[in-house]
Amino acid sequence: MQTSFTLAQLADPDVAESEKILRACVHCGFCTATCPTYVLDGNELDSPRGRIYLIKDMLENDRPATAEVTLHIDRCLSCLACMTTCPSGVHYMHLVDHARAHIERTYRRPAHERLLRAALASLLPYPQRLRLALSAALVGKPFAALAEAVGLKRLAAMLRLAPWRGPHRPLAPQTFKAPGPRKGRVALLAGCVNDVLAPQINAAAIRVLNRLGIEVVVAEGAGCCGSLVHHMGRERQALVQARTNIDAWTAIDGLDAIVITTSGCGTTVKDYGFMLRADPIYAERSAKVASLAVDITEYLAELPLEADENALGLVVAYHAACSLQHGQRVTRQPKELLVKLGFVVRDVPDGHLCCGSAGTYNILQSDIARRLRDRKVRTIERVRPDVIAAGNIGCITQIATGTKLPAVHTVELIDWATGGPCPPALGKHRPQLAMRPSAAAG
Ligand code: SF4
Ligand code: SF4
Repeated sequence: MQTSFTLAQLADPDVAESEKILRACVHCGFCTATCPTYVLDGNELDSPRGRIYLIKDMLENDRPATAEVTLHIDRCLSCLACMTTCPSGVHYMHLVDHARAHIERTYRRPAHERLLRAALASLLPYPQRLRLALSAALVGKPFAALAEAVGLKRLAAMLRLAPWRGPHRPLAPQTFKAPGPRKGRVALLAGCVNDVLAPQINAAAIRVLNRLGIEVVVAEGAGCCGSLVHHMGRERQALVQARTNIDAWTAIDGLDAIVITTSGCGTTVKDYGFMLRADPIYAERSAKVASLAVDITEYLAELPLEADENALGLVVAYHAACSLQHGQRVTRQPKELLVKLGFVVRDVPDGHLCCGSAGTYNILQSDIARRLRDRKVRTIERVRPDVIAAGNIGCITQIATGTKLPAVHTVELIDWATGGPCPPALGKHRPQLAMRPSAAAG
């Protein structure tokens, strides 16, 4: 694609990067076929190619974002399916991140929208505040349908996503020593939403790692990775959170890896080197942190895991989180680990399509998110699984609101199959699972 940025514009490193990305696009449109929003509605402006044109026009002409551009960029899930499909290597993620930051700087949203976004940005990344909000949501949760009926769709979406039980305490900074000789040392990103909503995920990861002789450090000072606000265009807040984590992790000696159990966070931490490339104090350390970041399944795939007897041929529908399959290109390891441990893994048809979770998307774009969820649940149920596994708390929560099937993190199954406890979501279904023919045969 031809571009016409001036030299003065190109002096801005973000504009220079976006110009490079825009030039790589050859308008072929292959990406449209795998874009969830285009697949739903067939509107070119809600396709990657359409959005690329809108972003080009806005940046090239140095224009403030319009309501129309904002609408179509807001509808983008940042699922990155378009990056997997694109034959020209267009780095859509960095382009849309730049566009979101430009929108945040130059577009004044309606007051109610600003208020909601400010509330999400000041609650979600902070576990203690999130706990308070979730406690309040427990009271409001029975009224989700009423909120929907009177048109408060986003409030209804938030209430539906909130769990029926009280929130958990976030993991305190500490070191989990492995019994026996130490074979490795990793930092674990405890995360924000993940840790408050589903502490069993990190607990399972810690048990599996410790069992394999790996010491796990939850670093003092580390917190939200920044992705929630990054995807809302709140660049400054995201960079503060990234720097805080970099300080926390680089203060620890002898780390082999930074292990992440939420793939949305993993994609962002792996991008820290790019996000802070122009920061003279953090550029080098951010690149180091990014190079150490791994998804839990990437790390476990290199270790000698041995199966216990718990899997019993349980049929797992593996839902590939977009951030894991498209953002990090981790596709093989989660499924191979589950198969190795005795589970029967079934791919979900149209597995490249997002479930609609996407950070705060299922709140901010609740209608599209629900349509994507319903579509995802239909395809999952078609493979008749006993359980759904995914590598991202967002997907697990989103999918669980649309099905009676248990949804768990992949590492919970790995832990269970290697001697850990049964995942809580599966525990409720154990009597039915025990009646299955494969279980009886086992
Ligand atoms: S597939 Fe790639 S090159 Fe083709 S239109 Fe989409 S982004 Fe551009
Ligand atoms: S990131 Fe996902 S929703 Fe956004 S343009 Fe690409 S494929 Fe479409």
